Amino acid sequence: MRFPLIFTLCLAMGLGAASPALAKIKVLTSFTVFADMARNVAGDHAEVVSITREGAEIHMFRPTPGDIKRGLGADVALWNGMGLETWFERYLENLGDVKAYVLSDGVEPIAIAEGAYEGRANPHAWMSPGNAMIYIDNIVTALSETDPDNAAAYAENGAHYKAEIAATFEPIRAAIEALPEERRWLVSSEAAFSYLAADFGLKEAAIWAINADSQGSPQQVRRIIDLIRDNDVPVIFSESTVSPKPAEQVARETGIAYGGVLYVDSLSPPGGPVPTYIDLLKVTAQTIVDGLTAAP
Ligand SMILES: [Zn+2]
Repeated sequence: MRFPLIFTLCLAMGLGAASPALAKIKVLTSFTVFADMARNVAGDHAEVVSITREGAEIHMFRPTPGDIKRGLGADVALWNGMGLETWFERYLENLGDVKAYVLSDGVEPIAIAEGAYEGRANPHAWMSPGNAMIYIDNIVTALSETDPDNAAAYAENGAHYKAEIAATFEPIRAAIEALPEERRWLVSSEAAFSYLAADFGLKEAAIWAINADSQGSPQQVRRIIDLIRDNDVPVIFSESTVSPKPAEQVARETGIAYGGVLYVDSLSPPGGPVPTYIDLLKVTAQTIVDGLTAAP
């Protein structure tokens, strides 16, 4: 009768000794940007799953039964909050008791300037190198509280990641500061870049305030054309997850340059232009600098 007990104990001890390699926690994120951030903090200690896929529109996503299946067994969930992916809160109710962390906690909110959502906080707070530090700290906290045994590794990975981000954006910041002040405009389809603009000292305007609003109505187009003419804005950009047509139309009607696509809500698949969060922020900031520098 003792044999099974000893066997069970040995099995338990064996698993215990091997657990740092085997027992990865499962981290669930609402979209791909946070999945990449979480992987940088987690290293080998977690399996990270993003519910929306690369290139997806994330504001008004509808999870399928397959998406619920992919989330089952999650130890911790990470999402933006600030009214961005309200579907994620409802989605989590399907998974039982998963502790969720709002990664924008601690960010200084910037209000949406116009449209149906006027006055509410703009939710795209991860889009600045400064705020990235807050998001990474919140991820370190979430993973450490979920998996205290690896807290030291999460803290160290987070510190390295933050240093890499700071170093990446120093030259881009300097390039923007070298532009004449009246040229420092960031005009795009969706006003998703308020935090980036504030961080880099750019004035921001957009055809529409947020993707959840109507996109490219004649009044919205009229208003941005007037703003561009009044302020001699040199270039207009669009956002990767929406149609570039309204921005291209505005460029044609005003005679200014169309500066190409900026990335904000979603990473591209591996091999694409922005497979990581640092790529997303870097390509976006560099596209802005290039557009402002090249325009006549
Ligand atoms: Zn957006």
